[in-house]
Amino acid sequence: MADASQTVDGNTLVAMCLSRIGIDKMFGVVGIPVTSLANRAVSNGIRFIAFHNEQSAGYAASAYGYLTGRPGVLLTVSGPGCVHGLAGLSNAAANAWPMVMISGSSEQKFTGRGDFQELDQIAAVKPFSKFSAKATDITEIPSSVFSVVDWAVAGRPGGTYLDLPSDILHQTVDLSEAERLIAHALSSRNKDLIEKPRVNNSEIKKAVEMLRGAERPLIVFGKGAAYAKAENELTKLVESTGIPFLPTPMGKGLLPDTHELAATAARSLAIGKCDVALVVGARLNWLLHFGEPPKWSNDVKFILVDISKEEIELRKPCLGIVGDAKDVVGILHKEIKDDPFCFGKTHPWIESIKNKSKDNVARMEVQLSKDVVPFNFTTPMRIIRDAISGVGAPAPIVVSEGANTMDVGRSVLVQTEARTRLDAGTWGTMGVGLGYCIAAAVAAPDRLVVAVEGDSGFGFSAMEVETLVRYQFPVVVIVFNNGGVYGGDRRNPEEITGPHKEDPAPTSFVPGAAYHLLMESFGGKGYLVSTPDELKSALEESFSARKPAVINVVIDPYAGAESGRMQHKN
Ligand code: ADP
Repeated sequence: MADASQTVDGNTLVAMCLSRIGIDKMFGVVGIPVTSLANRAVSNGIRFIAFHNEQSAGYAASAYGYLTGRPGVLLTVSGPGCVHGLAGLSNAAANAWPMVMISGSSEQKFTGRGDFQELDQIAAVKPFSKFSAKATDITEIPSSVFSVVDWAVAGRPGGTYLDLPSDILHQTVDLSEAERLIAHALSSRNKDLIEKPRVNNSEIKKAVEMLRGAERPLIVFGKGAAYAKAENELTKLVESTGIPFLPTPMGKGLLPDTHELAATAARSLAIGKCDVALVVGARLNWLLHFGEPPKWSNDVKFILVDISKEEIELRKPCLGIVGDAKDVVGILHKEIKDDPFCFGKTHPWIESIKNKSKDNVARMEVQLSKDVVPFNFTTPMRIIRDAISGVGAPAPIVVSEGANTMDVGRSVLVQTEARTRLDAGTWGTMGVGLGYCIAAAVAAPDRLVVAVEGDSGFGFSAMEVETLVRYQFPVVVIVFNNGGVYGGDRRNPEEITGPHKEDPAPTSFVPGAAYHLLMESFGGKGYLVSTPDELKSALEESFSARKPAVINVVIDPYAGAESGRMQHKN
């Protein structure tokens, strides 16, 4: 039993509050003034994963929030640490994932006089956070901690920020006073932030009418539906109505890619011809071509389901339903169940999607079945796909980034379970790979984590392979090594002039970089592979070992396209 006359300092009080509100993991980099905070967090039962760089730790925190539904917490030092952490905070905002960034800051009495690592951190985080708080006295710690955690998950999830000046971390209060402050702050939490919006029943009825009256309906779902854990409700809705479905890249797996109503392989047909699209937890942004022609038909009617009223107001769909995806889809299914309708297997719309999918899959399989050496992108991706499928349940979490590597991976790798794909996401963020791997290993310790990355994406945070080894995470990182961004130096030498024309190309890295040896230098396992047999054997060994490994896959530098499928934007 703790002695009530004992004192606690600000560091301990922050850790107590985080633990009291259910935070049990933190990601970060320690240093002045937050080293004690990390240690106190550990003493309060919180697992602290220490990184080399706040950027990767921030990416990890954002993905952890998505995978678990509880905000991932990033701890950084002041000034430059906070600035590095903005990468994670902004990534959380862009992807609508819950995350809390906590940074130490310089002493309040020196504000504006050039203190060590001084920065107006509240101003710096403003564009990237939905809420921020600064505790200016130890007594403000409990309410500040609880409000940043509550705001991160309220409505559309996102990043929040807590500023902790170093002086308040060293202030002290009696333990009994600390407990009183915590109890008071807990009882004063804003209930509106915690409660989910109520679903409007008349909108549900309208949605059912629209789906019932459609000739070519489609259900589209995205990472908002994945975050809401709506997989069971979506499966029931799809299977009871026979409506085909299309996941966004990270929606993949809510229903298995192998499901007979999956329209993924007939994407252009499905979105180009559908007349009513029920879009659940996915924004009509660039990833969904803004819901506009020429990709979508001119007269498609959208039913948008989103937790954010602002999102619905922005897109102006035919019908908008504000609510949690799991709740709304569950109620929709219940409403339909009482008066069922089903697009049977021989319905022309269903048949056309199935036939198109079959043709496209058959065409892709012809390409995939070839063993091309030196490796292009498809041959190793097929071998990786088969190895991942061989793992069985629970399925591995796949992390994917890069231009060609991610594009090819998205269509070739098969997702059969919800929240098993993490990629560059809404913001097209490169460099997320290692942070996401660590988040996945922490969030789902029973799963193998497999990263399929371009060498450029890997390089952003390659030093975090040491973190993999230190914590012995079951992560296998497969690096598609083609010697640079897009494929190294592809320039026509005659077009390069000027005094620096002999410099390496802006797109190129050292050819033949030995990334596998980087992993070995820390005691992990490294493989260098350039043939199908070598790759198969490395995958077999590393997947069954479930230990940190890097497989360095030599790719033909001339394979693939510049910018992947985004060439028109570069
Ligand atoms: P994707 O990239 O998969 O298309 P987006 O990130 O664009 O997905 O969209 C996700 C959407 O899901 C956001 O508009 C967000 O407001 C919404 N969302 C987040 N949580 C929920 C939830 N619990 N229920 C419904 N929608 C949600």
